[in-house]
Amino acid sequence: MKRLAVLGHPVGHSRSPAMHNAALAELGLAGEWHYEAIDLAPDEFEPRVRGLAGEGFAGANVTVPHKGAALALADSLSETAREIGAANTLSFAAGEIRADNTDAQGLLDALPASPEGTRALVLGAGGAARAVVWALLCEGAEVEVWNRTALRAEHLCGELGGRPVAAPDQGTHGLIVNTTAAGLRGEDPFAELPLEPAGFAAGQTVVDLVYGEQPSRLLAAAAAAGAAVVDGIEVLVRQGALSLRIWTGHEAPLEAMRAAARR
Ligand code: NAP
Repeated sequence: MKRLAVLGHPVGHSRSPAMHNAALAELGLAGEWHYEAIDLAPDEFEPRVRGLAGEGFAGANVTVPHKGAALALADSLSETAREIGAANTLSFAAGEIRADNTDAQGLLDALPASPEGTRALVLGAGGAARAVVWALLCEGAEVEVWNRTALRAEHLCGELGGRPVAAPDQGTHGLIVNTTAAGLRGEDPFAELPLEPAGFAAGQTVVDLVYGEQPSRLLAAAAAAGAAVVDGIEVLVRQGALSLRIWTGHEAPLEAMRAAARR
């Protein structure tokens, strides 16, 4: 049996095991591959990851708070992971740990159209924002970044590009991506973010990476205004599909993954 896992802390809430095991079953690989969740505190991460190949693991997804540590311990890095400064996918082969980042392409795959030439607003300046800003700039979008702690937005733009903004004009952006954790613990996102429920417009695309509440209050308001909406589960599915292809070489069955992730 080849083993796969998601490594995080906490990780019990993760939808990745259900999503990936459904994909493996759909591909007829359930007898050969199995995906599980492993909770690792920060001080446990590196020693355990170094032992995973010996335990039969072929790869792992990495989530909060380990994406930087995953990059630091890898023997080889994809260009994307190196430039973003974070890895969400590890592969163990030939005695080597390889780090990739599929969050960036996963976001692009989840969008209804290429963001090339679009004025995009990214809310947040944490790990998820780094992948989103990098992806949008690579595709030729014009990116503005707002963050609750303004200095972090300035640092992110200094490293990756984009322009920090203190008071974005919500109606003027073709694409708005919320990468903040606002709303995750039941907060009102409109109290925490520089957005108004009535400020969305038809023709905009709005993405919310947070996927606790379905639909999120942010996306419900955007959809009511006629905007196209993309939720965090779709982005999760798309990044997971790319990770699965890295490990198994198979095109991922998106519908089976969506159904399992939404269940
Ligand atoms: P992170 O590095 O800890 O960054 C958290 C970000 O959220 C920071 O910009 C922080 O602002 C902001 N924030 C937190 N609470 C806030 C609040 N109440 N009001 C306004 N801003 C707030 O975390 P991350 O890795 O970027 O992840 C962020 C979110 O994206 C999480 O909810 C995560 O689950 C989700 N995510 C989803 C996917 C997916 O595939 N769907 C992938 C990755 C991440 P400050 O700098 O001011 O603290």
